[in-house]
Amino acid sequence: MTVYQQTFPLNRETAIPAVGFGTYLISQEDAKEAVRAAILNGYRHIDTAEVYENEESVGAGIRAGIAEAGLAREDIFVTTKLWQGHAAWGQKLKNEEETVAAFNGSLERLGLDYVDLYLIHAPHGGAERLNQWRGLLEIKRLGKARSIGVSNYSEKHLEEIKAAGLPLPDANQIELHPWSQKPELLAYMKENGIAPIAYSSLAPLSTWRAQPGQDSAKTEAMKISDGVLAAMAAKYGVTEAQLLLRWGAVLPKSLNPERMRQNIDLGGFVIDAADLASLKAMDRGDGIAWSIGDPTHTD
Ligand code: NDP
Repeated sequence: MTVYQQTFPLNRETAIPAVGFGTYLISQEDAKEAVRAAILNGYRHIDTAEVYENEESVGAGIRAGIAEAGLAREDIFVTTKLWQGHAAWGQKLKNEEETVAAFNGSLERLGLDYVDLYLIHAPHGGAERLNQWRGLLEIKRLGKARSIGVSNYSEKHLEEIKAAGLPLPDANQIELHPWSQKPELLAYMKENGIAPIAYSSLAPLSTWRAQPGQDSAKTEAMKISDGVLAAMAAKYGVTEAQLLLRWGAVLPKSLNPERMRQNIDLGGFVIDAADLASLKAMDRGDGIAWSIGDPTHTD
């Protein structure tokens, strides 16, 4: 096993581990053990959110993992996210003060003094969107979040921050995989020093959120495989999941112990230029896990 310990710079002070452990759809009951096991398997980045309703248990898993692996808090990169409110669901949009209060609630539930990255989960903040960003700037100024960013933001939302003369996010966490590559958004982010963090990297797998009734589970059409990824993975002697995860800064979620190990065992191969070109040609444009225009999604 070759644990992949690559990091990427996030801002002048912070580096982010390329592979993080995702915890969406992991219950409060399961999260402690899952996060503990992830740390013992070499994961050094844990991703949660207020809206996943598992922060207490994730925090307990971080403490257990750190203690058992003989690590320090500084060795683990922790991300959580503001639930900004969503008018389409009848929710109040958080203002600046409520944003800071929500952050303090997350910190308390996690049982931490600081997080490494705090994100606005989605650009649904409407008239409060910029005030929510001002709240994050204040949290960073206080040193309670080492870096701050956004998630699911398009160029339009990032431009809004720029036009207000505010510092830009350190990162934008977005759905990224060969079927959803967002080249224009990525180019804009690169130009503006905003790091991409990929979620739902495994979406092209036939088994991805395959259980019926799961939130934003795959449609039958999306389960059909053309065999290209399988052939490419066989060439490198890895699984299709490992191939997909070798592609960027990613956050695989798995409750299956063998898959959890496999998803960070990425150091033993490099995707060659021809295959990178083939992967580039697979873009289908749209997202699967999250569609900003669709208010029925719950993540
Ligand atoms: P992933 O791309 O991580 O895929 C998870 C699914 O793939 C699960 O069904 C899992 O099942 C399965 N799986 C995991 N590893 C393997 C493997 N090696 N082989 C085959 N199947 C595998 O999806 P997520 O949508 O969970 O995204 C990852 C993380 O990103 C989230 O957990 C969350 O932290 C973050 N995220 C952020 C969002 C945002 O809006 N900011 C939106 C969505 C996700 P099993 O557990 O049974 O292995």
